[in-house]
Amino acid sequence: MISLYSEMSAVEERYLDYILLTSIGSYGSLFGEGRNEIAIEINKMFKEFLNCPHCGMKVSIRKSNAARFFLMEMMDCEHCGEDHHFPFHWLLSKTKFRLREKESHPLTETQNDTPAHPRTDFPVPTED
Ligand SMILES: [Zn+2]
Repeated sequence: MISLYSEMSAVEERYLDYILLTSIGSYGSLFGEGRNEIAIEINKMFKEFLNCPHCGMKVSIRKSNAARFFLMEMMDCEHCGEDHHFPFHWLLSKTKFRLREKESHPLTETQNDTPAHPRTDFPVPTED
């Protein structure tokens, strides 16, 4: 089990980044004041893909549609009013985007790992 978890750690770290990013983006849209910085960054990152498939016009993540975008991967077009799916998680997985630096984890560390931020606030597992 620990071995399997260890093999999945690279995937899981990226998935955790995705979960964090969409959570922060959604929260900022629903409860944050001012601009949604996550939405602004995602608009920049994926601007070449942000076109409405119905009318071809540019679409963008706005504060008003950001939660729907991050939670459901749905976009609306301000020009024609149509909705469309946007494969955000899939596209993000094709980039080298990382929200956090690599963190050490007691279940996934090996002797060769050099953690970026050594943690000492959890017990180190021992082999029985
Ligand atoms: Zn449109």
